[in-house]
Amino acid sequence: MTEKGIEIEGLVFDASMQGGGFNAPQSASSARGRMVTTELTEDDLAFDRSLRPKKLVDYLGQTKVKESLGILIEAARGRGDVVDHILFSGPPGLGKTTLATVVANELGANIRTTSGPAIERTGDLAAILTNLEEGDVLFIDEIHRLNRMVEEVLYPALEDFALDIVVGKGPAARSIRIDLPRFTLIGATTRTGLLTGPLRDRFGISFRLSYYTPEELAQIVQRSASILDVPIAEDGALEIARRSRGTPRLANRLLKRVRDWAQVRGDGVIDEDVAAQALSFFEVDALGLDAVDNRILELLTVQFSGRPVGLTTLASALAEEPDTLEDVYEPYLMQQGLMIRTPKGRQATARAYEHLGLKPPEA
Ligand code: ADP
Repeated sequence: MTEKGIEIEGLVFDASMQGGGFNAPQSASSARGRMVTTELTEDDLAFDRSLRPKKLVDYLGQTKVKESLGILIEAARGRGDVVDHILFSGPPGLGKTTLATVVANELGANIRTTSGPAIERTGDLAAILTNLEEGDVLFIDEIHRLNRMVEEVLYPALEDFALDIVVGKGPAARSIRIDLPRFTLIGATTRTGLLTGPLRDRFGISFRLSYYTPEELAQIVQRSASILDVPIAEDGALEIARRSRGTPRLANRLLKRVRDWAQVRGDGVIDEDVAAQALSFFEVDALGLDAVDNRILELLTVQFSGRPVGLTTLASALAEEPDTLEDVYEPYLMQQGLMIRTPKGRQATARAYEHLGLKPPEA
């Protein structure tokens, strides 16, 4: 392997080499079994597909991002050009994959979907790239998990639509350049901080998705309920929305659970009371926190008496991986103002004490 380019015998790319198909993000954590996990579970896949908006008008919320994308798409279409490479970042379940498919649909382009960890070797990437057609969208989820060698091959592909390949070995080796069709890369990442500088620089435009407001999520719940033919009142949708951690994937999942509960314990109609009772039954509290979130707050307030606690100490008290704590649990607790990170460690806020029905310590 050379620094750039791919060392192969001959120039035959086999599509079966392709790292191809979409792999759900892997996480070796108990977070996967959570009701309020924002990770994609097997159960979600088919369900998600049926509810996934296909066009920009069906994509609710994220108004600024949508507007900018609309302009980008229209301008590119007007020029008959490909859209610049786009990076979407933000916590899981906020709609990055959905937006990538929406962009492709709006462009009338094909989308090829893969993920950082699925592209193990440079040959995998070469196979994907050489199988693209003019104007295609290539979506790479979890792009921060691409390995460095694969990333190096991606650079000229993004900049010059070219693939540098080394043919032969030893002194006879020579580098040749293959032209690729012009395409648009859409990358998605939950951790922009882990993206290398050179890769980040190669995206023409980058959007950070933010948590949705309860009102936006309520609209998403209403839309999903009508697709699923579930009778729901406005206040029922809002109650589900309030407990969905600002995350559409979760809103859809909670809707599904509440629907089942309403069918068995009620008359099938979801109103505020039914939604609240169902979600309490499933241990999702009024802020959308589940038992693990509340346990984190209890540890910070009671066990550690409000003192700052280091990440690894907190993780081991919870019997979780530090990464899981950082990626899965903390963002929402911080966004809700229940926990802060200080240079000395994690600390519960006065709001956390209030939430647990405890008296905050004197300042
Ligand atoms: P990510 O790629 O950020 O993890 P996804 O794009 O897979 O998130 O979104 C998860 C699910 O949430 C989708 O299947 C879709 O049904 C729903 N969803 C996401 N964003 C929106 C939105 N803006 N409007 C309506 N539904 C959405």
